[in-house]
Amino acid sequence: LDNPLRFIDPDGMIPWPVNKKFGKFVRRVSSWFGPRNVQGNPRATRNHKGLDINFGSGNDDYGAPVLATHDGKVHEVKNSTSGNGGRKVVIQAADGSFQTFYFHLSTINVEEGDEIKEGQKIGEIGSSAFDSETGAQSHLHYGIKKKGSETGRMEWYNPTEGKGNEEGNIVDPQSWVDDPLGDAWYNAMNAQRAGNIDEMMKWLQEYEKLLDQEENND
Ligand SMILES: [Zn+2]
Repeated sequence: LDNPLRFIDPDGMIPWPVNKKFGKFVRRVSSWFGPRNVQGNPRATRNHKGLDINFGSGNDDYGAPVLATHDGKVHEVKNSTSGNGGRKVVIQAADGSFQTFYFHLSTINVEEGDEIKEGQKIGEIGSSAFDSETGAQSHLHYGIKKKGSETGRMEWYNPTEGKGNEEGNIVDPQSWVDDPLGDAWYNAMNAQRAGNIDEMMKWLQEYEKLLDQEENND
């Protein structure tokens, strides 16, 4: 248990693609998934396929770090301002079962094929769209696609899973990734909360074993 980095997000639960704060501003969702009123903004899609995330107002969030919400691989990078998504990154889970989308970036730090860990910075918030650095209002558009069980195709997925437009309902895609190390820690903490010390020690030993294996593989 000598790896403090592991304790920042021990159960792997980082649902947001941004930090909690940027400067003095706290993150918020300015537009949720689904049908929306686009009056006064003719270029906005009527049926919104993701979450719009901001800090403050105007360009307050320009340059805020954008973080991968799960382990995976960079599936696509479009480092140009074209299209309604502008500069974008797509990350795909190792098993190909889902993808996450990050649009309107000002800068991109990753390349196609890069291995990505949950919480890793992949770029910065911007306003790129429609062949311009300022084609959109500054914000992060964050989307999720999951492979449909019947169609076998990637389909847009509501990040709140239809549970209601509240921040606490935003899903953590890392929970869909097979992660024995994170699970062992999570189980240990649950056992501790339940006051079951034997169970906690069992999972901590499992955690240390997996951690040793992982370090030997590097
Ligand atoms: Zn959007």
